[in-house]
Amino acid sequence: MVNSEYERRIAARFTTFDQDGNGHIDRSDFSGAAKALLAEFGVAARSDKGQALYGGAEALWQGLAGIADRDGDQRITLEEFVTGAVKRLRDKPDRFAEIARPFLHAALAVADPADDGTVTVANAARALTAFGVPGDAAGPVAAALDTDGDGRVGEAEVVPAFARWFTVPE
Ligand code: CA
Ligand code: CA
Ligand code: CA
Ligand code: CA
Repeated sequence: MVNSEYERRIAARFTTFDQDGNGHIDRSDFSGAAKALLAEFGVAARSDKGQALYGGAEALWQGLAGIADRDGDQRITLEEFVTGAVKRLRDKPDRFAEIARPFLHAALAVADPADDGTVTVANAARALTAFGVPGDAAGPVAAALDTDGDGRVGEAEVVPAFARWFTVPE
């Protein structure tokens, strides 16, 4: 049942994780997101960056499943997501940050073709688009990630932003 503003926002996050839109979150949603990002930046799956991204995606899935997949069927339903993941992590954004960090670290590396250790806001927007953020929203969201306003998006900005986004305040 999705009836409050709070529940509606949680459902929106569920939809974001359910990348293939089949109604539950499972491992393939995470590997699919990794694949989409690699395709956007033309990075091979078997490269070091590709392997790191798939490893991070698996770690993120395992972390979320460990918290939310209460019946252990390797799927997270909306109900499990609401009652498990969101409520248990809401008061612990640091824990979610650590679960997500390897994936975000690897994703930033993929979005940094020049390997100079920085990701432009434009490339961050491309990454968000690859993850299914609508085109007209990706730019503003990427710009908002650049909290220090230097035109670049870094891990120190992305990890806490992702944790804040995930841990919906009630
Ligand atoms: Ca899915
Ligand atoms: Ca389950
Ligand atoms: Ca760069
Ligand atoms: Ca910045």
